[in-house]
Amino acid sequence: MKKNPFDARLKAFADALEKNSLDAAVVFSQHNIRALTGVDCDNACLLVTRKQILFYTDFRYVPAVERLAPYLVIADIAKLSGKKPLSVRGLKFSKVGYEASVPHSLYLRLEKIFPKAELVDIEGDLIALRAVKTESEIAAIKAAARLNDRIWAEASSQFAPGMTERDMARKIKRLMIDYGDGEAFETIVCIGENAAECHHVPDDTLWDGLKPILVDMGVKLGGYASDMTRNIVGPRPSKLYRKVYDLVREANERAIAAAKSGITAAKLDAVARNFLSKNSFGKAFGHSLGHGVGLEVHEAPGVSKKSKTVLKPGMVITIEPGVYLLGNLGVRVEDLVLITEDGCEVLSSSAK
Ligand code: ZN
Ligand code: ZN
Repeated sequence: MKKNPFDARLKAFADALEKNSLDAAVVFSQHNIRALTGVDCDNACLLVTRKQILFYTDFRYVPAVERLAPYLVIADIAKLSGKKPLSVRGLKFSKVGYEASVPHSLYLRLEKIFPKAELVDIEGDLIALRAVKTESEIAAIKAAARLNDRIWAEASSQFAPGMTERDMARKIKRLMIDYGDGEAFETIVCIGENAAECHHVPDDTLWDGLKPILVDMGVKLGGYASDMTRNIVGPRPSKLYRKVYDLVREANERAIAAAKSGITAAKLDAVARNFLSKNSFGKAFGHSLGHGVGLEVHEAPGVSKKSKTVLKPGMVITIEPGVYLLGNLGVRVEDLVLITEDGCEVLSSSAK
């Protein structure tokens, strides 16, 4: 019989419920359900109790769920309409966990489904569990990162003078659809000074074949995301650009060298930030060093100057220092890395 590939994570979640004296938790987020069961379904709810797991969905999805996840006990999602309180044999609901990010309308429904229960936010537990990837997730993210490298190589080799940012972004998007499952987020392409805006939207700016180009791109593959930023320095970069580029790359490399299990995210952020500050560009590094990547392109752990999260083996994060000088230039060098026991494995292998 096929086993739930996320059994260990699901068990850890059930254990957390027990520790917090919860009778059950309801999970509605599509990503969280997938991270606990391996099933991707856009109309589902997972009821996790200390004794059993029920997968609520509607008849349209039942055959696929039965086929892909025979380990799940399926129930009819109509029972969660809120018309009647939920009753499950052998269970009482006096304290029930839920995800605080659910829409308000769903919260009101939860009050009807569990009229006697105290509703407790357990989203943080789920987010923390997802931060450490399983082996199958690591394999999926590595595959997405490899594809990202391939698409970058193919697309950037076709960049030519006269193309606009939109043309370049379209080329990347097309390859992401041809080779993968599309974009993990809107591809960012910035020519010259447009890169001073971190999340510039590609427009009709023309490339003259000389100006630097910044591209931030991520492809989805098998549900998992990649994320990488590369810069085309151009044949004759200004002295300032060259200097900033070398510093940002060094900040990226210093942080990669420091990334390992046991370091706090804040300490890792400081490695890059202090280096750029010492070189007078600290103020121009306005965002955090990185973020977790998995089913979503931005997930836990945040790698910011405030994050107390201790990095653990199996976490996948980005390392992306940047320097932005408005009206002049922007440089960001971003790699995806897997935290290991004694260091990290860099998953992005495009030249930088
Ligand atoms: Zn990025
Ligand atoms: Zn990123």
